Amino acid sequence: MNPPLTIKECVLAAVTRLVAVLLVPIAFCRAPGSARFLACQWALGLRFPAESLRGLAPETLTAFTHARAEAFWRDGQLIGLTSGHRDAAEQHRIFTEEVRRTGSVSAARRRVLPPQESSHVRGLALDVRPTEGARWLEQHGGRYGLYRVYDNEWWHFEYRTVEPVRLPHPAAAAWRSERDATYGHQIHGDESWRHETRPDVYGNGWPPMYADPAERRGMHL
Ligand SMILES: [Zn+2]
Repeated sequence: MNPPLTIKECVLAAVTRLVAVLLVPIAFCRAPGSARFLACQWALGLRFPAESLRGLAPETLTAFTHARAEAFWRDGQLIGLTSGHRDAAEQHRIFTEEVRRTGSVSAARRRVLPPQESSHVRGLALDVRPTEGARWLEQHGGRYGLYRVYDNEWWHFEYRTVEPVRLPHPAAAAWRSERDATYGHQIHGDESWRHETRPDVYGNGWPPMYADPAERRGMHL
């Protein structure tokens, strides 16, 4: 079950909405045609000060900022970025930590991919917060080319030009490639993965870099 929002989170969300409204006139002076868009990005930047949009591929950045502007102004949902682009060294560090934590490469690959396979390194992946924002993005992100791609990672979205078949976990992509190469199956339209167990539970599991309970709480701040 998704834990209910705390009073503190509700207050912070309300304050963020108020700040965004107050920033609209200033944003209008800067960019009259996109004042609400700009004010929303500023307010969310204040709400999630640790987030960094740097290094995202241009199409990913455009999709994410426009999607969260719609979430914000139309539905009042806040979407922050926990982790976007990572360089290869950072991805390698996270991967090796996960290998050490789980005790095997194959187990680690169910949560983290090595740099050469990671969409984070290519600037196409977004780990978002909080769970309510992730749920909004899962329901509406497709209009912007943003899709949840793994059953076991409610927070992870990727920019795609074609809606992907959702996989049970990151390692499944490699298994799938091997199987397709072996048996010549089509990549798109194959529904066999749909029969995997799909734990559609938000808050079930956390990003590897937020394995610590204190950090988990931080995800909702
Ligand atoms: Zn991710």
